[in-house]
Amino acid sequence: MKKLLFTCSLLFSTLSLISCTTSESDNAQACNIGNVKFSTDFATGRMDNCKQVAENEFLITLIPELNKTNAPINSSPWYAFKVQAEQATTIKVTMLVQGDEHRYPPKISQNGTTWKLQPYKLNGERLVMNIEASIDPVYIAGQEIINNEYYEDWAKDLLTKTSISYDLLGESTQGRPIYKIESKGSSNEWLVILGRMHPPEVTGALALFPFVETILSNSELAASFREKYNVLVIPNINPDGVQAGNWRHNANGYDLNRDWIDFNQVETRQINAYLDQLVSQGQKIKFAVDFHSTRRNIFYTMPVDYGVENPYFVRHWLGDLDRKMPDVEVVLKPGNNPDQAVAKQYFSDKFGVHAITYEMGDDTDRQEIKDIAFNASNLLMANMLSDKDHNKE
Ligand SMILES: [Zn+2]
Repeated sequence: MKKLLFTCSLLFSTLSLISCTTSESDNAQACNIGNVKFSTDFATGRMDNCKQVAENEFLITLIPELNKTNAPINSSPWYAFKVQAEQATTIKVTMLVQGDEHRYPPKISQNGTTWKLQPYKLNGERLVMNIEASIDPVYIAGQEIINNEYYEDWAKDLLTKTSISYDLLGESTQGRPIYKIESKGSSNEWLVILGRMHPPEVTGALALFPFVETILSNSELAASFREKYNVLVIPNINPDGVQAGNWRHNANGYDLNRDWIDFNQVETRQINAYLDQLVSQGQKIKFAVDFHSTRRNIFYTMPVDYGVENPYFVRHWLGDLDRKMPDVEVVLKPGNNPDQAVAKQYFSDKFGVHAITYEMGDDTDRQEIKDIAFNASNLLMANMLSDKDHNKE
């Protein structure tokens, strides 16, 4: 993609002090400091600024991206960097967030795919950790890295298992593909599933994968469901933000989940146009689920008296989930925010149906995320297929 551009200032005192910052947002930060090398030359890589403060001690500062819509930026300081040393050594890394505080406890990985928690201490606003650096690089990141390629591999794997289509919906601001997955049955009614408007919200992605896999599985319930309902999945709406390791926004500095009224941004505009096109062909949008992450598990819903069809549908569905998983707290937060331009409200206002924002906690146990997604997707299908009256409690 973009050329790497960085400016480094070199100061000599007793220690050489090298500080690097970037003028482009595209994973260009790097610091080569003697024996130790920090780099972000991979998708989602981000550390904004790094410098040596003592022998084997380094300071990384996290700085939010361009923000044109919602100051102050939502507090989601993302970071992902690689550390390597020519000679094995223990280094001390301190991370600071410019104008904000830390949200994501560090994770470490040797291969970029399997992760474990990295021990750290919070010292006021400073996050401090000791890392064993060696010739074999280690990745340190705020959450597991789920990059654009990961989505493509996941979708291609789904293609081998079930009868779906996988093709381009459109392109992002910087020209990256935005893909859609579709399953078409014999009816004209659609379930719509969206994900990753907010790049660091990885637990939302970790929920979307099993949720969609269950709906596209070969279970009897899923097969009946897909006969009755079509499914549209747009799993990765903000590929530019994901690539750059943005905290919140797309490449233009817009929060895509605040753009569902004006459609200023090409990412949301193309989805709206695609749904318009479906409806103009006699198709009906029946329900939508939009995956995100926040501090804890929450399902943001539309109120039962908002005037959408089947007013008690979401209460029935998530009530079933609550009964199915007595050890998991299923929290529903009904809300009507007409001016916020979030996807959930767009579906209700435009199509007269329920929609939810499905939020998984940042630190929710990863197996629990899968279990909730498995049960929630099965119960969603059962509720959409049942002849239960969703007009009353
Ligand atoms: Zn979000």
